[in-house]
Amino acid sequence: MLNNKKILITGIANKFSIANGIAQSMSKNGAELAFAYQNERLLKKIKPIADDLGVKTLIECDVACDKSIEQTFSQLKDEWGTLDGIVHSIGFAPSDQLDGDFTEVTTREGFQIAHDISSYSFTALAKGALPILSDKAALLTLTYLGSIQSLPNYNVMGLAKASLEANTRFLAASLGKKGIRVNAISAGPIKTLAASGVKNFRSMLKEYADRAPLGRAVTIEEVGNVATFLCSDLASGITGEITYVDAGFNTSAMSLIPSKE
Ligand code: NAP
Repeated sequence: MLNNKKILITGIANKFSIANGIAQSMSKNGAELAFAYQNERLLKKIKPIADDLGVKTLIECDVACDKSIEQTFSQLKDEWGTLDGIVHSIGFAPSDQLDGDFTEVTTREGFQIAHDISSYSFTALAKGALPILSDKAALLTLTYLGSIQSLPNYNVMGLAKASLEANTRFLAASLGKKGIRVNAISAGPIKTLAASGVKNFRSMLKEYADRAPLGRAVTIEEVGNVATFLCSDLASGITGEITYVDAGFNTSAMSLIPSKE
């Protein structure tokens, strides 16, 4: 599905990362990959994943820094010339923002950081990559239901994801005339490093599986397969969309299994 496509994957922190599920699926489907990692500390974690998949290009890129983004695409230009896709699988808010009542814990600084790293960085990567993006390139980001519905402790990340989804639509409108598509996957909750930063994540997972039509959570492999499709030419008519990979949770208002009361 992705033969002859060169794709940059961001946001692999370890083997549990959603971006790892995406990398595995894209590699299986013929893509040539490069990995971007935030800092030296992460290199040790992603090197074995890269070696396993035969990924040779590993680039340090902190999306909070414009210079770092510039250097990333300059290196990719030297190595590949052009780029057919970017997976933006990055989100961050300070931990004190993700624990407690929204009104009480949200600060101006927390708000700014969450929106900068979790939403603006997608625009920044698109801007930086534009000179080397090929005609049919596809950009993809990862979002969560907290963008449209409130839930405990997700707090300012919900606002940042709402921004990210609007970002997806505006980038799609802006880049569509060049043939570049921009989409998002709204994934159900998955136990990753970022997710464990949200207080009571385990009980959220349990409630989730109870209400989702499939009666379970989703896996990084399932998200990876949809990412492969959305970045392939099979999805050539899809842009500006938020695709849910959540076992149907967002479509269900209540579990059909009667409670024990
Ligand atoms: P993860 O494995 O912790 O991945 C998050 C990644 O973001 C990490 O690699 C992290 O690097 C990176 N990152 C944070 N700040 C960065 C920066 N300034 N520059 C570059 N990279 C940075 O968690 P994940 O769950 O797979 O998250 C991936 C995406 O999926 C996020 O956007 C998340 O919001 C979204 N998502 C997750 C779930 C879920 O339940 N897990 C559900 C829906 C959507 P460090 O480790 O160095 O910080």
